Amino acid sequence: MRILVTNDDGIFSPGLVALARGGLPFGQVRVVAPNGEQSAMGHAITIQRPLKYHRVHPDSLDAYRVNGSPADCVALGLYRWEGADLVFSGINLGSNLSHDIWHSGTVGAAKQAVLLGVRAAAFSLALEEEEPEFEPLLPYVEQVITMLLEDQCPDLVNVNLPPDPWGIRWTRRSLRAYSGQVLEGEDSMGRRHYWFATTPLTDPEENTDRRAVEQGLISLTPLRLDLTDEEWLQQMRLIAQEDI
Ligand code: MN
Repeated sequence: MRILVTNDDGIFSPGLVALARGGLPFGQVRVVAPNGEQSAMGHAITIQRPLKYHRVHPDSLDAYRVNGSPADCVALGLYRWEGADLVFSGINLGSNLSHDIWHSGTVGAAKQAVLLGVRAAAFSLALEEEEPEFEPLLPYVEQVITMLLEDQCPDLVNVNLPPDPWGIRWTRRSLRAYSGQVLEGEDSMGRRHYWFATTPLTDPEENTDRRAVEQGLISLTPLRLDLTDEEWLQQMRLIAQEDI
């Protein structure tokens, strides 16, 4: 079993090392991660400049850094390793629930793996403190990986861990309303600047990723890349169109 591990927080993130260590009992692990922070880069790939791939040595892992996005790391990592059986992305410092997955570099990396024909999972930790302890989470990470290795497991899974979990649930994505606020401020030179702030506007729906994590449960959400609105398309086919 060959497992490629990446993230969007960069090669020095403690979450990356934790996920790589979680994968080690299951096979050979290689880390390929961005040089630095790439959070909220989504599924971006780099096409305007060349990429570099350099060996690094965090915790004696087989690890490489790339001057690109999380999805770049997956594409380049799979190319250099000549494929892998699984791609894991994370553990992100912060949850990736509900609409977060549109922006998430952590989830973007996992999607890129699936586009390239490799099963993948994104791992994110709901943060309560700035420097979380990953050690107590390792048994849970291993339990989740065991579930992901079962034959009937979906190809793309979004995993979110609360800080102190007591169980695991399969969930759906919450479709909560999303504020998308813009916060204005001033820098120390008196120049205007802006921050995006995204806070949920409603309580989470039943059996959703957000509800699970709020209740202290690890959330596993199966995702698919097909975004087609089948229901609407079916109606159109009946009304107006012939097959092509
Ligand atoms: Mn991140």
